[in-house]
Amino acid sequence: MATVKAVRGTRDLLPPETELWNRIEATARKVFARYNFGEIRTPIFEDTGLFARSVGEETDIVSKEMYTWEDRARAQSEKAQSLTLRPENTAGVVRAYIEHKLGENGQLQKLYYIGPQFRRERPQKGRYRQFWQIGAEVIGPPFAGSESPLRDAEVLEMLATLLDELGITGWTLEINSVGSSADRARYNDVLRAALVEVAPKMCADCQRRAVTNPLRVLDCKVPEDQPIIDGLPKITDSLDQESKDHFAAVTAALDAAGVPYALNPRLVRGLDYYTRTTFEFTHGGLGAQNALLGGGRYDGLSEAIGGPKAPGIGFAMGLDRLVLTLQGQEQTVLEAIYVNTPSDAYIAPLGEAQNAAALALASRLRKSGLRVELGDGTFRLKKSFEIANKLASRIVILGEDEVKSGILTVKNFLTGVQGKIPREELVTLLKKPAGEFDGQP
Ligand code: AMP
Repeated sequence: MATVKAVRGTRDLLPPETELWNRIEATARKVFARYNFGEIRTPIFEDTGLFARSVGEETDIVSKEMYTWEDRARAQSEKAQSLTLRPENTAGVVRAYIEHKLGENGQLQKLYYIGPQFRRERPQKGRYRQFWQIGAEVIGPPFAGSESPLRDAEVLEMLATLLDELGITGWTLEINSVGSSADRARYNDVLRAALVEVAPKMCADCQRRAVTNPLRVLDCKVPEDQPIIDGLPKITDSLDQESKDHFAAVTAALDAAGVPYALNPRLVRGLDYYTRTTFEFTHGGLGAQNALLGGGRYDGLSEAIGGPKAPGIGFAMGLDRLVLTLQGQEQTVLEAIYVNTPSDAYIAPLGEAQNAAALALASRLRKSGLRVELGDGTFRLKKSFEIANKLASRIVILGEDEVKSGILTVKNFLTGVQGKIPREELVTLLKKPAGEFDGQP
């Protein structure tokens, strides 16, 4: 019979690799806490309309990549509802911000999330159909300072700090401003006009974008199209004074904080909701899918989905890609992560009659903070020793005599010393470093 496999573009994450995932998540939570961000968890599926209205109908994500289905109506009189597995999380966070009236206390909301996202993309290294993002948003009413360029710079400084604390070396930050929605509309017209002449020489996607959404042409990755795109008008030249000043304030704050960046006037990113600052952190070790994270400002998003005016800025980083990057880095970083240390003890019951007592002993030891492997009374002693030697630095033997007398036999695999010790002293003994010879097991 054919076996059932994980669906294309999805994968299982197994130990010890999951150690690395957990470490990344823990570091992110620690850094977010220092910047006073709180965690938000939104549902992994939402009404399809949310993504169409926020991410944009014309984007690749909405037009090609969403997992959408008609959810059955609860009653005959009801219509079915179109639902979609979230392809990104900003739309969900802003929906929640509106739904729970989070702006009404007049303060900035600083929210982070960690969770899976879903896009039907062609799978390759670093690109999956279920992938994980760590992201954060700063959003609030304008009088709370949500439009301030300092918020943009603070988020970017936080990201630089986070990548450094994760041990990711050699990242690059690229930034741009796509201006206000009026600037973008103006630039769209300029671009549309410029594309009339050159689009016929470009890829089929660009020919379509040239008509429907010219800005998206700048996202094109087809190598032959690149020289043409480089010759197109730059968005920087279409910005009004306010947008220019805003961007200059962002870069001035980054300079002051010592965060290195490069200007990239082509960085418009694949989602329609961005305004003003957009950014991407890339890493050379990732190959074709080299974006570690991306983000930007979205001053009109809340209003686009029916909410109050609530400017904001946020980012999403690919957890899968952070893992790939760390795995590709020098041994030293990895070794610090995969500390494959043996357990403190392996408990070997000598017969099935001692299994229950062995569990009770393991329970006590684990409660005291020790890392313990529990064997099985059906194993012969030789087998228990073989397994214990692989998994733990000491073995504790629990036979009928030991259970009755409370005097346990312990062997230290690192020093080779075996001896007997009262049950009450076991925790103290196991907490001693196993490699140091002091006559005790
Ligand atoms: P986006 O939401 O498209 O701005 O993506 C933000 C980040 O999520 C990217 O920089 C990637 O690190 C990650 N990402 C996006 N799509 C995928 C995918 N299909 N597989 C893995 N990571 C992804």
